[in-house]
Amino acid sequence: MLKTIQRSSPHLHSCITSASAAGFQPNCLFLQQLLQTSGLFYSVEMATAGKVIRCKAAVAWEPNKPLVIEEIEVAPPQANEVRIQIVATGVCHTDLYHLFEGMHKDGFPAVLGHEGAGIVESVGPGVTEFQPGDKVIPLFVSQCRECRFCKSPKTNQCVKGWAAERYDVMALEETRLSCKGKKLLQFLGTSTFSEYTVLNQIAVAKIDPAAPLDKVCLLGCGVCTGFGAAVNTAKVEAGSTCAVFGLGAVGLAAVMGCKFAGAKRIIAVDINPEKFEKAKVFGATEFVNPKDHSRPINQVLAEMTDGGVDYSLECVGNVAVMRSALESCVKGWGVSVLVGWTDLHDFAARPIQLISGRTWKGTLFGGFKSKDGVPEMVKFYLDRKVKLDEFITHSMTLEKVNEAVELMKNGQCIRTVLRVSP
Ligand code: NAD
Ligand code: ZN
Repeated sequence: MLKTIQRSSPHLHSCITSASAAGFQPNCLFLQQLLQTSGLFYSVEMATAGKVIRCKAAVAWEPNKPLVIEEIEVAPPQANEVRIQIVATGVCHTDLYHLFEGMHKDGFPAVLGHEGAGIVESVGPGVTEFQPGDKVIPLFVSQCRECRFCKSPKTNQCVKGWAAERYDVMALEETRLSCKGKKLLQFLGTSTFSEYTVLNQIAVAKIDPAAPLDKVCLLGCGVCTGFGAAVNTAKVEAGSTCAVFGLGAVGLAAVMGCKFAGAKRIIAVDINPEKFEKAKVFGATEFVNPKDHSRPINQVLAEMTDGGVDYSLECVGNVAVMRSALESCVKGWGVSVLVGWTDLHDFAARPIQLISGRTWKGTLFGGFKSKDGVPEMVKFYLDRKVKLDEFITHSMTLEKVNEAVELMKNGQCIRTVLRVSP
């Protein structure tokens, strides 16, 4: 790296060498950041560029089994692709959904993880937007900027990427990851439970070099999803009354979004009362545990709010809760948003619920156009307009991924952030 600096800026190089002579020992990350913040045009050629990288990853060989830490092979990026060294990743319920609930047999072996942040290691032909050393967030929803969906301001459903047609398998056919001669599917096109991964540039967001990767990784899924569900999809209005069902990171981010939009009352609903303390931190004003009531929860909420809430957000992934959330909305104008993920059951409701003026909507990644929205949310965090640190209840290394999965399964965490690369 020092050689590259010498070539692109002899002056900066002589400053670094005099500082080193005086006892200062700059490491690789420091040098990358120095180059980025000094605004120099540079190209850092990593020793690994163009070669297969052997690295550690947590492999889901089959459904319903613990993940296995393996040495895997990561192919170099092809045209329009970016190879990323993942620094940190959150564990989201959607990872658990694939492993324990969906269990689609064609969705394995896979490398899970889709809520990560890292540093570009190398780029394939045709990539001009990214350079080695850039801080990035992998995106499970792409933004090609060219398809009819990207061109419409109404949606973030880009036609490219895994989500276009592989909802059931939750991965693309093609992958750059392999282990012991077997292809490893890239879960949601991302695979952040690996030291390295490869994505098409339409599914990568370049972020502020000042962003701490072990915090902003949460913007790769949970926090953008919940926050955007309230702000972009429900379009919560100032002074309104909201109910959020499910207080994991997604639901808590929805609470934060309702508060950000100026909601007056935010009713937090969860069957695990241990979540209420955290919900207060993000702006919840009232707390309801359905287990404390013998009546249906929508009746309880209707009584509390003179007929129902203006907005309800389902952040559990359970079709019965989806129905309760809809029925908790006030007739006339109530809006209910499906955020929780499930493809296992049909949902049901009485038509009169909609005939009488309620709206039922859903959201993928909080409606954010991903490449545009994620860097904006990173700025929001750096400007202290949204919280991230408060979601993180546990930090550990990738080797302990199964512990992190157990914590979520048992409702004992909000987010565990795994440190993937040193
Ligand atoms: P989590 O497991 O951390 O949180 C779920 C919460 O729901 C828990 O606090 C649990 O106690 C609560 N809960 C369970 N049953 C309930 C019930 N009957 N009533 C009320 N609360 C109940 O999960 P998470 O990571 O916050 O994810 C939440 C959901 O959002 C999951 O279904 C996940 O797959 C989904 N998700 C969707 C998107 C999207 O783009 N739409 C993105 C990310 C996650
Ligand atoms: Zn997720």
